[in-house]
Amino acid sequence: MDQVKIGRFIAERRKLAGFTQVQLAEKLNITDRAVSKWETGRSMPDSALMPELCELLHITINDLFNGEVIVMEDYKAKTEKLLIEMARQKEEADRKMLMFEIVIGVFATLIVLGATIAASVFEMPEYARLCVIGAGFVPFIIGCCIALQIEQKAGYYECAECGHKYVPTYSSVFFAPHVGRTRFMKCPECSKKSWNKKVLTK
Ligand SMILES: [Zn+2]
Repeated sequence: MDQVKIGRFIAERRKLAGFTQVQLAEKLNITDRAVSKWETGRSMPDSALMPELCELLHITINDLFNGEVIVMEDYKAKTEKLLIEMARQKEEADRKMLMFEIVIGVFATLIVLGATIAASVFEMPEYARLCVIGAGFVPFIIGCCIALQIEQKAGYYECAECGHKYVPTYSSVFFAPHVGRTRFMKCPECSKKSWNKKVLTK
């Protein structure tokens, strides 16, 4: 949502309707400062005011959110563009999450390795050795759980049998054998078990 564009649109429609900022504010029972804030893109009209505002400006709520009057033919294209943009943003976020998963994995492994090496290198009683290794495993296990959760939620798994793309449950990801991010799971669409690849786009 482009607040500045919406602001300019409100100002333009207000002038077209023949209102000053003060007149529009009076009709809506708000201060002219609020109108000025919308028009400069510093804030959005309260959703409770939107229906009345749109009526006064002879626009639809959809026009308001888009910051322009949407003609019916344009409407589908605009909506599609918005959906594509949203999908792109999700893909980007998923990509970042999967990078983060690698960072967690590396850290968790380093901690458990460090603890094991420390326990074997330094002189210490047997129980202390176990404690050090145990202390290394706690962040390792927590790290693995977080990493697995990221892998489950980011992007989709693609069924090798039917090509269906889906987000699996945490437990099915947890129990599935895997090579890298490719997991052997049952597809919810065709119910066949296969090696499902991780993909970012649907
Ligand atoms: Zn399938």
